[in-house]
Amino acid sequence: MPGSEPVNASVKTHCPYCALQCGMEIGPELTISARTDIPANASGALCQKGWTAAELLTNGERLTAPLLHGEPVAWEVALDYVADRLSALRAEHGPDAVAVFGGGGLTNEKAYQLGKFARVALGTSQIDYNGRFCMSSAAAAGIRAFGMDRGMPFPITDLAGADVVLLAGGNVAETMPPFVRHLTGPRMIVIDPRRTQTAKLAWLHLQPTPGTDLALALGLLHLAVAEELVDEAYVAARTTGFDEVRTSLATWWPERVERITGVPVYRMRQAVRALAAADNAYILTGRGAEQHAKGTDTVSAFVNLALALGLPGTRGSGYGCVTGQGNGQGGREHGQKADQLPGYRKIDDPAAREHVAGVWGVPPESLPGPGRSAYELLDALGTPGGPRALLLFGSNPIISAPASEHVAERIGALDLLVTCDFVMSETAALADVVFPVTQWAEESGTMTNLEGRVLLRDRAVAPPEGVRSDLDVIAGLAERLGHHFATEPAEVFDELRRASRGGPADYSGITYERIAAEKGVFWPCPEPGHPGTPRPFLDSFATPDGRARFVPVQHRPPAEETDDDYPVHLSTGRVLAHYQSGAQTRRIAPLVQAAPEPYVELHPDLAEQLDIAAGDVVRVSSRRGEAKAVARISDAIRRDTVFMPFHWEGANRLTNPALDPTSKMPEFKVCAVRVERDA
Ligand code: SF4
Repeated sequence: MPGSEPVNASVKTHCPYCALQCGMEIGPELTISARTDIPANASGALCQKGWTAAELLTNGERLTAPLLHGEPVAWEVALDYVADRLSALRAEHGPDAVAVFGGGGLTNEKAYQLGKFARVALGTSQIDYNGRFCMSSAAAAGIRAFGMDRGMPFPITDLAGADVVLLAGGNVAETMPPFVRHLTGPRMIVIDPRRTQTAKLAWLHLQPTPGTDLALALGLLHLAVAEELVDEAYVAARTTGFDEVRTSLATWWPERVERITGVPVYRMRQAVRALAAADNAYILTGRGAEQHAKGTDTVSAFVNLALALGLPGTRGSGYGCVTGQGNGQGGREHGQKADQLPGYRKIDDPAAREHVAGVWGVPPESLPGPGRSAYELLDALGTPGGPRALLLFGSNPIISAPASEHVAERIGALDLLVTCDFVMSETAALADVVFPVTQWAEESGTMTNLEGRVLLRDRAVAPPEGVRSDLDVIAGLAERLGHHFATEPAEVFDELRRASRGGPADYSGITYERIAAEKGVFWPCPEPGHPGTPRPFLDSFATPDGRARFVPVQHRPPAEETDDDYPVHLSTGRVLAHYQSGAQTRRIAPLVQAAPEPYVELHPDLAEQLDIAAGDVVRVSSRRGEAKAVARISDAIRRDTVFMPFHWEGANRLTNPALDPTSKMPEFKVCAVRVERDA
């Protein structure tokens, strides 16, 4: 059986999964213990995913040889084959015939190297990553309000000092349980269509109709204005644009918002009064608010509320996005996004192009411009003028992309699919070539957690024989295409630091040694002697005038509304035992035991109406596809809504790929479905 050999008695590292990046130690016999020197989980907590993480290292399904059309081959054979095919496709169809798709779980070094590989070695504009499906709406809203997106722009430990925390569309009690330890002090207000484990902990739970969070945020701000709860001094000193927003709120009177959202006016009033009365308060958004075709505007509405109450950029209060994927923050900073270069720079900014091209040793004009966003890229595969080859790193879109059957069709139309995986994921099973790659504990690298704290994962064990790093795959292909790329993470990080210099996400002053000694360093950190920036907006925001910008936004219905054919809302989300597409966690026995199969959660009244009993197999259909799962009956969900976790094949056959015009986020969180007992 393939397995990882320990190389050190005990190594300090971080969890392979979510953006909390809990500190953990890997000891002899691959035992896991929680570190208490990392603030995110200084309480010594890990969730069940973290405690069982080492089991994946020795999983019997590990791939240990490259596969070419399903047959094991030598590394050189597979690399030669892919490089030859890429060269032929580029020669015949041009550089954009090759696309690259990355992941929010890749280390900063890999994310950086992937962006450089696409732009320098392949010369393609066609690169994006699965983080587009995760935090992109919050990132876009953060940039337009604050001039910079740094997720939660304050240390997580600040939350404990708050009086009130409003969490819009996040279920941290299941997705990242140690987060909750930072919320035991404040009164929590949770906005979620389901009474989730997090909502059960809340002082106040607002349960809107799916797809109406934006209206709810407008109603809360309308009330704040009407009740004269706006922090006028803060608004005057630290912001611009409030008058326009105040005017735009005129029609969002609370009774109208109640009709749209189903949230009673008195509860909205309770929420906004509690926030305004607090000495210290935070507003946080998660995927529930963000994964909509109006996700950017929804986050902007919550940011507007936070600004009106005088929270962002003050000590002890603020706004933040609870990033999901392990390196969701770092993944969007180093150039694997279609529109960005390292340092979180815009790819169409001439100064950014010149700086980064200088580090890469190429003329600025040789760098391609912006490419297609994640879903647009998947949707274009194999079409006339679209990419003919796809290189996938750290992603499993057959499960995680919306309208997944359509995505599978598009992938099937490719001339060449190449994946890097450590097990045979559903997408790898379709690939012409699969490269078996290392996992988190088998190589060093940095991750940037949800606070913007750059952390170091040290190599703890040797990978199984036959397995190489994604960095080796990139370098091996680049070499065959005539370019030299480094393979040592520390060497790549040094180059990343230089490429990031002067950008919003400036890592210039961060070194592996500093991270290890200081247990992480916050960006921006522009010089070696710089202390890092835990709270970047205390003095001013990253806008040209230093003030945060109010952005007027208006509610509109979901891209797809319920009707006679599809009368029920579907919302999708996560469960405690599984992570993302489940490619990792569905292979770990205790996690499979804890959550063995997909399910459909529905209200007892809806179940009775549809003659469905707990345990029945239910067929859920949307305009895009069909999925079957076992029924769970619960009054924690609204009568007009069903919920499905997306860690298994099925849920994303149903979801709607309608895109947010700014962030290009698909509408994962709401679509219209029909629910029936399976005959
Ligand atoms: Fe890992 Fe996240 Fe669980 Fe912490 S909360 S142990 S980082 S999955």
